[in-house]
Amino acid sequence: MTDLIRLTAAELASRLASGEVSSVEATQAHLDRIAAVDGDVHAFLHVSDHALEVAADIDRRRAAGEQLGPVAGVPLAIKDVLVTTDMPSTSGSRILEGFLSPYDATVVARSRAAGLVPLGKTNMDEFAMGSSTEHSAYGATHNPWDLDRIPGGSGGGSAAAVAAFEAPLALGSDTGGSIRQPAHVTGTVGVKPTYGGVSRYGAIALASSLDQVGPVTRTVLDAGLLHDVIGGHDPHDSTSLTEAWPSFAAAAREGATGQVLKGLKVGVISELPDSGFQAGVSESFRAALAAMEAQGAEIVEISAPHFEYGVAAYYLILPAEASSNLAKFDSVRFGLRVDVPGGTVEDVMAKTRDVGFGEEVKRRIILGTYALSAGYYDAYYGSAQKVRTLIQRDFDEAFAKVDVIATPSAPTTAFKLGEKIDDPLQMYLNDVTTIPANLAGVPGISIPSGLAAEDGLPVGIQFLAPAREDARLYRVGAALEAVLLDQWGAPLLDRAPALGANGGAR
Ligand code: GLN
Repeated sequence: MTDLIRLTAAELASRLASGEVSSVEATQAHLDRIAAVDGDVHAFLHVSDHALEVAADIDRRRAAGEQLGPVAGVPLAIKDVLVTTDMPSTSGSRILEGFLSPYDATVVARSRAAGLVPLGKTNMDEFAMGSSTEHSAYGATHNPWDLDRIPGGSGGGSAAAVAAFEAPLALGSDTGGSIRQPAHVTGTVGVKPTYGGVSRYGAIALASSLDQVGPVTRTVLDAGLLHDVIGGHDPHDSTSLTEAWPSFAAAAREGATGQVLKGLKVGVISELPDSGFQAGVSESFRAALAAMEAQGAEIVEISAPHFEYGVAAYYLILPAEASSNLAKFDSVRFGLRVDVPGGTVEDVMAKTRDVGFGEEVKRRIILGTYALSAGYYDAYYGSAQKVRTLIQRDFDEAFAKVDVIATPSAPTTAFKLGEKIDDPLQMYLNDVTTIPANLAGVPGISIPSGLAAEDGLPVGIQFLAPAREDARLYRVGAALEAVLLDQWGAPLLDRAPALGANGGAR
């Protein structure tokens, strides 16, 4: 029998449609996989106890001749930042331990309506603050390529689940790189859609002007299939774009023919320093560019002089917005309340926030309230917003000359657990190439470009496109994916050593 967990979502969907496999069988195979390896990987915070029921319902409906969507019956992992009515939603924080939402996030509701089968909720840095998933209040997630290494963050759980074959599809959220950087370090595909392209309703807010929900998968086509399910206008989200979107799965299929690379102008940022990038990351990036060039793409040097100030601007804008968004966790409205006998309501609030929030969350609340305080607003928050505008202009100028911009998705391969946890600045610098897209609202994709020579760990290449041109990323991503797959002969993830061929994680 085929190993159901190794199929891509597209392959699984076609077997489900033909009746060769049932959703119950596919779901059971993934639950078995989770039971076998998640003790080591810890991708999940919660595993659904009714996934099989949902799957059986899909099977029944299919048997009854109901017209189901293209991915009906395929299992899905959901980042715990997205609220769900039938499973707790904690956003990786103690302050929301056991919290049950009265409604589903729009992306979750759409996933259910499309017949996807929620397997559970995945681990993440607390309130999506981090690049390693070590800031989760519930313990770190481990990278399936090497269990002593980080799976990226904040969506390390979703990326690890997909990389460890615990789920074919996962939902993530990307405020500064939390979909793309985990994809980079786990050898998976991650997409941050255009700002407003996917609803944020029910995504527990980190920084509302930067947050976007997106797909985490093993192939570009799978990401397109999931994006088609979750994307499009949502009246519940006032920043949701109203236009109709093309099918991203169709774009991926078109891209896989490779024609799109002919004459494609790929911009490479001249100011991006070579220093700070691990040698194997730079080599893999250059090799991917060369592979594209061999297919007729043109590599064009472009200037984006303000790109390098992205991290600095982001770490003022994000904490400012986060400090405001997290004010609602006040011991009264949601989750945890720590009583202070004889204390005032302020005492209860202070104690609850002290106990309920972790160190990184407190650090950012302090940073944010400082940057927004009367005397410093112009100097910090105001200046950061100006830099944001300059970065947007850099993109506008660049996209007048090129079709897509390419960068390595992150500066290094997966680092060791514990290596950067005590050095916030080092942690923040992981997102140097991903953050500008969030500041400008443009879409980005990370796809595996190969393994770094020095450590054998996965490397990702990121493509960025103008706002609303997400389909272009699927075409280009799928084209390069096809070229690289030809070179490798088998998917990169087949080489992940810590997983074994079929068995346990070690
Ligand atoms: N690593 C970044 C941060 O810590 C990105 C977070 C995110 O995209 N949610 O803010």
